[in-house]
Amino acid sequence: MRNRRTRHYLAAALGVSILLGMVAGCMIDLTKGRDFGEPPVCQVHARVMRKEKVPLISGYDLYGGDWAQAEREQFPHSDSPRRWDGDLAVHGEHGLAYVCPGCNEARNRWLIQNRPGVARAKGLID
Ligand SMILES: [Zn+2]
Repeated sequence: MRNRRTRHYLAAALGVSILLGMVAGCMIDLTKGRDFGEPPVCQVHARVMRKEKVPLISGYDLYGGDWAQAEREQFPHSDSPRRWDGDLAVHGEHGLAYVCPGCNEARNRWLIQNRPGVARAKGLID
């Protein structure tokens, strides 16, 4: 009885780990080949970044051209959806990217100043 339960548990654990492996396999690693040092540090804010899952978008700039420019210059490592010009259907809709807390703060400030509607929808302002 006890053995059977253990086997069930092992089978379930194996299934879960296979499933997780498949999900991770579908995720593009945007951090690959990008060496920001050890630990990785944001080139704008000099703060330590962490690998996080971020949504990917394809073929357009999230909030227009001025957003794209601000993102490049002021918050290149925020957790906002990243542009990915590869095939989303093949690679999935998330990527593993470096995220900097300073970039998230700069991104929030930019949204409040330049896209108050978006900032309100995200709960950044009342
Ligand atoms: Zn940063």
